[in-house]
Amino acid sequence: MTTLCAYDLHTHTYYSDGSLSPAELVARAASKGVQVLALTDHDVTDGLPEAQSAAAQAGIVLIPGVEISVTWGSQTVHVVGLQIDAAHVALQDGLGRLREFRNWRADEIGRRLEKAGIPGATEGARVRAQRGLVSRTHFAQFLVEAGHAPDVRSVFKKFLVHGKPGHVPGQWASLEDAVGWIRAAGGQAVLAHPARYKMTALRLKKLLREFREQGGAALEVVSGSHSRDDAFRFATLARTHGFLASAGSDYHGPHNFYLDLGPLPPLPEGCIPVCQDWPETIRG
Ligand code: AMP
Ligand code: MN
Ligand code: MN
Ligand code: MN
Repeated sequence: MTTLCAYDLHTHTYYSDGSLSPAELVARAASKGVQVLALTDHDVTDGLPEAQSAAAQAGIVLIPGVEISVTWGSQTVHVVGLQIDAAHVALQDGLGRLREFRNWRADEIGRRLEKAGIPGATEGARVRAQRGLVSRTHFAQFLVEAGHAPDVRSVFKKFLVHGKPGHVPGQWASLEDAVGWIRAAGGQAVLAHPARYKMTALRLKKLLREFREQGGAALEVVSGSHSRDDAFRFATLARTHGFLASAGSDYHGPHNFYLDLGPLPPLPEGCIPVCQDWPETIRG
């Protein structure tokens, strides 16, 4: 059974908040030994055609994916869709609405930062958003370059999270809708980097139960933002809640603090990999 080591099922390009083009991402992944790569940009699938043809050239398998922004209770969580039919209408309608909210939010972040004495942030973020999808990452890049904080990590803490001047509360997709769109598009829904949500055990259990009831397929057990202990913890939770296990770097580009591309640590013993029912030609 595969341990997903040569798989990377969570990555970004400049179609969302990554810094590489799809062709650059695929070439880099292939050169570092990745054999099965999912492109999972935030709320957009426009990078997939370029990634598909680059993967065919590089001789690796490209899994069409997306990472959907979800509001669950008062919290933002991310749901990755793997093996999606990106042309599916309900999925694209849903993603389109999320991008409209993003666009409005970008203006609102700018208005709030301006009130806090920082002008020009929306324009600064928009020029850094190379394909038009504006993320807080682009605001962070602008704010760092304008000298408001030394690095992206501290700029988030100072300006872009709950209780800070550039934070805009809002409503992303519901968990039910995100899972529904992914399933309607023939894909598998994966709860992304679950250790990042810092939930109490009780709340996490509630999230996992709901995600399972709604048809969620897998937990991202191995992640660029998980420690080895996190991986073991979520491997156990995957088993007890009946989820498959996924693995992804959450790569955003060479300048990001997350993990580089390349073979990931193996899934802990006892995990059932998310690819278990994928065609033999894809599983490799
Ligand atoms: P958004 O979806 O526009 O709200 O932006 C979320 C993105 O910002 C995530 O996908 C990460 O890439 C990035 N991000 C979130 N929190 C942090 C953080 N504390 N430090 C650096 N990047 C972060
Ligand atoms: Mn991101
Ligand atoms: Mn994420
Ligand atoms: Mn991601």
